[in-house]
Amino acid sequence: MGKLFLVPTPIGNLGDITFRAVDTLNLSDLILAEDTRTSSKLLNHYKIQKPIRSFHMHNEHRKLSEVISKLKSGQTIAIISDAGTPGISDPGFLLVREALANDIEVVCLPGPTALIPALIQSGLSADRFVFEGFLPPKKGRNKRLENLIGETRTIIFYESPHKILKTLTQLVDFFEPERRVSISRELSKMYEETFRGNLGEAVEYFNQQTPKGEFVICLAGA
Ligand code: SAM
Repeated sequence: MGKLFLVPTPIGNLGDITFRAVDTLNLSDLILAEDTRTSSKLLNHYKIQKPIRSFHMHNEHRKLSEVISKLKSGQTIAIISDAGTPGISDPGFLLVREALANDIEVVCLPGPTALIPALIQSGLSADRFVFEGFLPPKKGRNKRLENLIGETRTIIFYESPHKILKTLTQLVDFFEPERRVSISRELSKMYEETFRGNLGEAVEYFNQQTPKGEFVICLAGA
């Protein structure tokens, strides 16, 4: 039996990869990547020369049995995503579940992910938190927010630049405008910025400028 490694990669700053992640990629027979062009830049930077194949949300179902066969034949396979930890709002879960069902060893390396630095630097309670990832675009969106109204733990959302204002405006509707929030963008990159205030102030702030980059929203619990 081979082994499946989930290898976290930088969320912006190339220096954030671990020594062990580089070693693991170098020792793998095959690297599965969400976007092979994006990942090739990282792999070239670290002079990692291994076969790379695409594995993303549009082909993961189709590729599952082929990857499992390779693992069963003894190959060591690493999966990486465009940024951060595979399986966190990225492909990975399906393959992990299938590998475990086939008694294949699965190891996820510790490493970069956007939610943890955003939470820790938010100043909001990190003792207990809930990760909501991306809200559904339409169907089920309101229900998801309704279910969070009484949530006492810090709530973490992922959001893209073109939806951040819509989401914040909606959060004001579901939670009170005074609810504390921390919004981090471009973590580990040159224009990294964290807004800390309340929801009402956040809407005002992001109304005054065109939101750029990728966002993590940390909302205080009730
Ligand atoms: N697998 C990744 C992880 O472990 O965090 C998440 C991938 S998900 C497709 C992309 C989302 O993660 C972005 O829309 C944003 O919400 C968040 N994200 C990723 N990189 C970020 C960064 N450098 N700064 C802020 N948010 C980031």
